Amino acid sequence: MPTELDKRIRKSKKFLKPFAKAPLGHFIKGRRVKGNSMTTFENITPVDNSKLGDIWSGTVKDIDVAAQAANDAFLAGWRDMPGAERRDLMHAIADGIEARAEEIAIVESMDTGQPIRFMQKAAIRGAANFRFFGDKAVEAGKGLSLPAEHHHNFTTRHPLGAVGVITPWNTPFMLSTWKIAPALASGCTVVQKPAEFSPYTAMLLAEIAYAAGLPKGVLNVVNGLGETAGKALTEHPLIKAIAFVGESFTGSLIQKQAAPTLKRLHLELGGKNPCVVFDDADMDRALDAAVFMQFSLNGERCTSSTRLLVQETVYDEFTAKVADRVANIKVGHPLDPTTEIGPLIHPTHFDKVMSYFDIATEDGAEIATGGGREGDEGCYVKPTLFTGANNDMRIAREEIFGPVLTAIPFKDEAEALSIANDTDYGLTAYIWTQDSAKGMRMARGVEAGMVWINSENNRHLPAPFGGMKASGIGRDGGDWSFDFYMETKNTCVAYGTHSIPQLGVK
Ligand code: NAD
Repeated sequence: MPTELDKRIRKSKKFLKPFAKAPLGHFIKGRRVKGNSMTTFENITPVDNSKLGDIWSGTVKDIDVAAQAANDAFLAGWRDMPGAERRDLMHAIADGIEARAEEIAIVESMDTGQPIRFMQKAAIRGAANFRFFGDKAVEAGKGLSLPAEHHHNFTTRHPLGAVGVITPWNTPFMLSTWKIAPALASGCTVVQKPAEFSPYTAMLLAEIAYAAGLPKGVLNVVNGLGETAGKALTEHPLIKAIAFVGESFTGSLIQKQAAPTLKRLHLELGGKNPCVVFDDADMDRALDAAVFMQFSLNGERCTSSTRLLVQETVYDEFTAKVADRVANIKVGHPLDPTTEIGPLIHPTHFDKVMSYFDIATEDGAEIATGGGREGDEGCYVKPTLFTGANNDMRIAREEIFGPVLTAIPFKDEAEALSIANDTDYGLTAYIWTQDSAKGMRMARGVEAGMVWINSENNRHLPAPFGGMKASGIGRDGGDWSFDFYMETKNTCVAYGTHSIPQLGVK
């Protein structure tokens, strides 16, 4: 009898076959094109590091053609299409995503190493993003009424034009929909540059969007390297804004590259997020959350709770329980429905994560569990808990982006807040206490764009998403996405009775 894994591996061969046939190009003006590049790069699966296919490395010229196509489509009518029509089209795209959700999830799992149990949900979440933002398209142009003496001001919102979306390799499909859906709902057109480690599902999204009836040129995808295709997109004069998700260093490069054309930027960057567990917390729930938040999605998650700050009165007991749970996490083939952690994205990232095991012990931390590779092929890493750590160690300061957790003790509320804020980053924070006033004080004091009290990183679509400090600039989600992709215009109308200052009157 074939197992669930056998069945999924068979399906993955079918779904990945089209990508292996010929080098993958781009999606421009509603169709697949090779572009004008003469070079390709390889795409591998971290399951065993075997090649899945080649990708044409998009050029400055390819970006130019895509930006022109997006600008033409904007002017040709996408910006003026009634919101209700855009909404219906976006629901049709969501239907298409749901119809191909299994294919998206399997391709994403093989391309990124993310467990299928999470990629199935991520595909469905992608459809939900199109529905949620699609429904908002109807009122995207809404504004405020601002009466004044002799005049009436009113505001309206207008789409910016063609925008660039640059996405990373962690949950690439879901993140693409999170950026592209509100752009389309706003009336903007898009050129996307997907991450070179995970280019496949962006192409599936473009295919689904055009099958649903999206007008040609409204969504364009150019594959390629960050330093060529990505850079060209950030520099292109027809591109009015860049929505970027990726590393903080790349974000700072993009700021420089985009400066000469004065682009609007939204930067969602790295994190080194604290999860603070006080001794009066509900320990069972805190334990579930601390393990889930760091080890789901292979620990390759910007919102993960990578620094576990535990009050010293319960530190030994709590970290012993965490170690037990971490040692029990099931590492395996990403298509196995029982797998909780799959292989990391790529050998270069695997090497980076592995290097922290030596760094941790050199700095004086202990490896309570894990601390090495799992198996002998692919990019599998043992889920790891570091104890005996302090906040000055590199494992507490640098974004490792893998299934590793650093536990740090603290004495009291003041010390917890000081350690939580002693970081370059400021994306998320998690507070565990049954004292609501203490929870609120911590939430107020912590330097993070998003704070959860007594919860895992639950995300609601209308809520703002984004970070402080090196974790980013700007917010999206709900109406914040529309503020980013649209210009607010004020129109001031006089009642016609006030006296206008006169010059040059004889
Ligand atoms: P990365 O910065 O290396 O790459 C992201 C994208 O930027 C890729 O498409 C890449 O090709 C492109 N790029 C690289 N150099 C560029 C340049 N000079 N100009 C334009 N584009 C360029 O990030 P990654 O390694 O793919 O993703 C992991 C990172 O993303 C982590 O730091 C993680 O925390 C972060 N992330 C943040 C959030 C958030 O919401 N804050 C969400 C997911 C991931």
